[in-house]
Amino acid sequence: MLRDEDRIFTNLYNDFGSDVDSSQKRGDWKDTKEIISKGKEWIINEIKLSELRGRGGAGFPTGLKWSFAPKEIGSKQHYLVINADESEPGTCKDRDILRFEPQKLIEGCLISSYAVNAHICYIYIRGEYYNEGKKLQEAIDEAYKKELIGKNACGSGWDLDIHIHYGAGAYICGEETALLESIEGKKGQPRLKPPFPALIGLYGCPTIVNNVETIAVVPTILRRGGKWFSSLGRSKNTGTKIYCISGNVNNPCNVEEEMGIPLKDLIEKHAGGVIGGWDNLKAVIPGGSSMPLLPKQICETIKMDFDECVENKTGLGTAGIVVINKDQDIIKCMARIARFYKHESCGQCTPCREGSGWMWRMLERMAKGEASRDEVDMLMDVTKQIEGHTICAFGEGSAWPVQGLLRHFKKEVAKRNNFNPLVDKNRNIPYLVDQHLLDK
Ligand code: SF4
Repeated sequence: MLRDEDRIFTNLYNDFGSDVDSSQKRGDWKDTKEIISKGKEWIINEIKLSELRGRGGAGFPTGLKWSFAPKEIGSKQHYLVINADESEPGTCKDRDILRFEPQKLIEGCLISSYAVNAHICYIYIRGEYYNEGKKLQEAIDEAYKKELIGKNACGSGWDLDIHIHYGAGAYICGEETALLESIEGKKGQPRLKPPFPALIGLYGCPTIVNNVETIAVVPTILRRGGKWFSSLGRSKNTGTKIYCISGNVNNPCNVEEEMGIPLKDLIEKHAGGVIGGWDNLKAVIPGGSSMPLLPKQICETIKMDFDECVENKTGLGTAGIVVINKDQDIIKCMARIARFYKHESCGQCTPCREGSGWMWRMLERMAKGEASRDEVDMLMDVTKQIEGHTICAFGEGSAWPVQGLLRHFKKEVAKRNNFNPLVDKNRNIPYLVDQHLLDK
């Protein structure tokens, strides 16, 4: 369990007030000028030393990302863009930072902008977070008033302006290049990469895009040292993380914990346990709806960090944990998720645009027990035709949950649709879905 002295988000439940004075009492904006005076190289090295990985889902090393920004400002200005689009189903951690810990984010924006040579920072908030956006704007205004940001922010000699930009509710705008398109006033559709935003991003200028939680932990890391952060968790999976636990639990909650905490502890100790008891657990989606689900036997032992999730053929993603108990129809749950992805596909790539609809329709038939034996193989094939064949990671995000269902619940699919999962009688071949595809 995380010790209280290692907690970064001390106002996660708004017990102590989110205004700037209360935040300063808790330690925000302490020695910010001194941190900046240590220079860009020191800041980036300290973040590299902390082994901080992006908290938005992909888990890319933050210090490394920052080091891609050009070292000098050329003819084009640099931007820092904060991704507060938080649209992944099962995820609501950034929301609590925006409304209860906004000064941590704003201070992080200043230090990070300085590190990547940006004088302008955009915070892209999903349109549905209207109240959170209002709270954040109030916090930004307070910070301007106290001269913590603006001209010569904190007396550091660095100028920084922060602007909020609201999205209009499209899931795909959480993808960093779609988000940039959206800020530019275009349709939110992902760009082909390369070029990467660090060199050609917003308005064609060098741009670093980071998630809210990633930037909000930066000031504490720099105050306490990269080594302190990396002493929590294990190598390459360091620090603390806000986990969101929802679904069939007695006490859905957000909780900051040490990276690598056992999933069972999160559910039993923080979320009040599975409704109906641990034995009533059917599956858990560990990292937001785009990650493959895990059956109960893996949930008994798995630890929640990036690498252990990958070892178990899933992903930590946003750490949005959705608990599904035996009262639910798991095939229907996955059909519902597939419908979401079908609806949210931006339509640029044929495998994603068409495949997401195929998967949804097949899963609907499977949930009703109307699928043929061949359709199960076909469904797996469709997921493989999407995966790795699209412009952005949305393709994988729509295919992986379906693969998770077929990997762990193929017997249930077979039973519902009245065929033997082990033998295809017509062709007399072992069935269901080639194991090598499931193991990949
Ligand atoms: Fe759009 Fe899907 Fe292609 Fe991403 S994978 S660019 S969401 S069509």
